[in-house]
Amino acid sequence: MTFFNSFKNSKNQLLDSLDGCRITIKREDLIHHTVSGNKFRKLKYNFERLSHEKDPALLTFGGAFSNHLAATAEAGKINNIPTIGVVRGEEWGDKIVKSTTLDFCQKQGMQLFCVSRDDYRKKEKAALVQKLQSQRKNLKILSEGGTNSLAVKGCKEILTKEDTRFDVICCCVGTGGTLAGIIESSTSQQFILGFNALNNSEVNKSIAKLTQKKNWSVLSDFTFGGYAKVSHELIDFMNYFYQQYEIPLDPIYTGKMLFGIFDLIKRKEWCWGENILVIHSGGLQGIKPMNLRLQKRKMPILNYGNP
Ligand SMILES: *Cc1c(COP(=O)(O)O)cnc(C)c1O
Repeated sequence: MTFFNSFKNSKNQLLDSLDGCRITIKREDLIHHTVSGNKFRKLKYNFERLSHEKDPALLTFGGAFSNHLAATAEAGKINNIPTIGVVRGEEWGDKIVKSTTLDFCQKQGMQLFCVSRDDYRKKEKAALVQKLQSQRKNLKILSEGGTNSLAVKGCKEILTKEDTRFDVICCCVGTGGTLAGIIESSTSQQFILGFNALNNSEVNKSIAKLTQKKNWSVLSDFTFGGYAKVSHELIDFMNYFYQQYEIPLDPIYTGKMLFGIFDLIKRKEWCWGENILVIHSGGLQGIKPMNLRLQKRKMPILNYGNP
């Protein structure tokens, strides 16, 4: 597992001072171009466990734009472990090359199965997955988004000793596994603020299952209508942000969080402490497919990382 062990800490970059708040950003997006950010952290110990198996393989789940699928596919290739992706939506079956993400996954050697939403919901209980498991003894299953205790263990390595000086740590939330790891490695004086990327009211419960600590909360005010939904205002903000700071944000997670942080500070509603650390959790592979979608809808695009 030299790939996963060769990297430890990301650099912190001072971003700006806004209305008395000092914002620093942790550049987890620079870890690797695809196995980046929290996906690197979440996969690290899952792949390490696989490497102790004889003839291992990994099966996991995701949508046609999934950062998790892309990262798993490339990590599998780098570490020489075969991967299988179960994709939400049978309609993708005959147009894999039209999905930037799925096309990438396939090129890394991931075997893809596009299934109906019904079968997708069944996860490891679906007939297809059961059949694949019976065909291969050491096929391990990783849940959608890759959250499990090994993922949380990896995410505990995002914060370092130097980061104890921050009052508040901000991070995007999908399944909440990343946030749980950060909460677990925080000090009791720190507050961990999550920014929900989807309208998932159950996420608080999921996080509470992964950590006993109470120094956190999740805001759902900046979902922009739901997972992978965007607006003109959000795209404008992300282009402004890139122009101002030369840091690319992704449209599904980090763009919405930074919009939220800037918005709350501007409206003088920021109340979690002035010394802020923001985790850039990566996800930049999602820019290209989003731009293709925006172009089709004749909307403004993200003018960094053009298709
Ligand atoms: C997957 C992803 C998340 C969500 O992580 P969870 O552990 O599922 O909450 C956040 N940010 C980025 C960039 C991601 O790709």
